[in-house]
Amino acid sequence: MSDSEDVRNEGFDDALDAIAADEGYFLECSNGHGSLPPRRVCPDCGDVDLSEQPLPESGEIDTYTVTHVATPNFTDDAPYVVAIADFGSVRLTGRLRDVDPEAVETGQVVGVDVETTETTGERLLVFERR
Ligand SMILES: [Zn+2]
Repeated sequence: MSDSEDVRNEGFDDALDAIAADEGYFLECSNGHGSLPPRRVCPDCGDVDLSEQPLPESGEIDTYTVTHVATPNFTDDAPYVVAIADFGSVRLTGRLRDVDPEAVETGQVVGVDVETTETTGERLLVFERR
């Protein structure tokens, strides 16, 4: 195993790769709770019987926050909107891409993708209006 593999956050990076390739998946426990990798137990009920399920193509914005003054890691990205969207049994947190912060509403339908931040080059989940 190389050093670069050691620093990789295996389960989560694999999930980001899959979403970027339009083959996103999430983990679902036998009680129907969804979560993103990496997980060994369900964060809701502690079930260890997790299976990979395909991520629905679209979700609905549940809540969101507009950030006008960013922390140093995201200075070049502000203003931006971070939302929690409901994708069936899994809820995802991501940044809304190319939106007017004034025009965001809960219930809006979004798809999910992966983007690199302008400031640090880190990858993160992004939502885009459908
Ligand atoms: Zn569960």
